[in-house]
Amino acid sequence: MSRTEFTNWAGLVRSRDCEVRSVSTIDEVRAAIAAARARRCTLRVAGTTHSHAPLVQADGGIIALTDGLSGMPLVDRGSAVARIPAGTKLAAVGAPLWQAGYSLANQGDVDVQSIAGLIGTGVHGTGPSLPSISASVCGARLVVADGSCVDTDDDRDLLEAARLNLGLLGVVTEVRLRVIPAYHLHARDWSEPIAPVMERLDDLIHEARHFLFFWEPRTDEARCKQLHPAPGPVAAGVDGPGERTDPAYRVFPGDCGTPHTEMEYSVPAEEGPACFWRIRALMRERFPDVERPVEYRTVAGDDGWISPARGRATVAISIHESSDRPHEAFFRTAERIFREHRGRPHWGKVHYLDAASLAAEHPETWDRFWAVRARYDPEGRFLNPHLRAVGGV
Ligand SMILES: Cc1cc2nc3c(=O)[nH]c(=O)nc-3n(C[C@H](O)[C@H](O)[C@H](O)COP(=O)(O)OP(=O)(O)OC[C@H]3O[C@@H](n4cnc5c(N)ncnc54)[C@H](O)[C@@H]3O)c2cc1C
Repeated sequence: MSRTEFTNWAGLVRSRDCEVRSVSTIDEVRAAIAAARARRCTLRVAGTTHSHAPLVQADGGIIALTDGLSGMPLVDRGSAVARIPAGTKLAAVGAPLWQAGYSLANQGDVDVQSIAGLIGTGVHGTGPSLPSISASVCGARLVVADGSCVDTDDDRDLLEAARLNLGLLGVVTEVRLRVIPAYHLHARDWSEPIAPVMERLDDLIHEARHFLFFWEPRTDEARCKQLHPAPGPVAAGVDGPGERTDPAYRVFPGDCGTPHTEMEYSVPAEEGPACFWRIRALMRERFPDVERPVEYRTVAGDDGWISPARGRATVAISIHESSDRPHEAFFRTAERIFREHRGRPHWGKVHYLDAASLAAEHPETWDRFWAVRARYDPEGRFLNPHLRAVGGV
């Protein structure tokens, strides 16, 4: 195997002198784990590397690319559960699910990620009644550090940990997701100054199933998007300018844009507006050169062990910077504001918190998550320095 440098999508998370293996079969997964064990090195599992945090990073170790573990979703109609090979891209899931009569309850801004990657970091879309995709996980299969195959049906704690797992439990080979009857979405996109949007924010959030905006620092306008289920496709010309109606899986995703990095914090829903105004003021006063937008979304509370939305209705606020510009001073200053509003970081995005601060956010369940990790990976094969710092191990 040749050794190489490996970077994430944004180009900022680098693994030096690592071995990259594409895995397509359980035997290849086992071989990658065995090689890491023999060399006493770290093995990190990669989806499509759209995480900004150094999760898919293994200096001197092995990166296992899971795009070969892909295939068609199989839906059990009785339970409305889709069984999906873990490396399958979200973009490849929508059409076959639609043909089977189903849709995902929600999706994020893009559909390029792998199914295992989505649940690896708790990816979410927007909508006050809709939790993250991790909340719809009802099962998974994994190859764990000793090379054995395990199913979450056999271990309730493993299921809870696997729903948002940071790639710490082993290589996920299959994910089982609850799905709902197929639906169309009517989308309306428009821009207007930020002040009137914030004045009627509650109405905008609650009058449709999904609402989000991107605040553009250069124009002080909000690019707004409202999505709402519609009975079906409409005749040509019925949708007005900036509107369209299509199968949901085609309406949710947008473009990834040019390479950038991102910090996102989930604050209690009632803190969202005040927190947003402070981030806007910070950018205008101290970081006027940042031209990337701020995104504002809502997420329903859930019971995920390490979920940023655990136990509370949530507003997720994201800040961005281009990959070729410095971001740390901006992100660190913004993080102080997010924390003053009781924010919890998105696991797949940049944050600077230590284990004690993170543990304090999940007092009842943090230790349970890390205990399951230790049980299935006692030698820490799937840990890298970032995750050791996050978990305090
Ligand atoms: C342009 C862009 C748009 C985004 N939009 C959103 C959004 O709308 N909402 C949101 O919440 N986030 C969003 N994100 C963040 C991103 O979607 C998440 O970080 C997601 O986890 C990336 O999925 P991936 O397949 O690229 O996984 P990776 O980044 O490759 O991996 C993520 C985690 O999953 C683990 N993992 C991946 N595959 C496996 C496997 N088979 N077994 C075990 N562990 C595995 C990895 O080890 C890692 O810990 C966005 C990021 C970008 C760059």
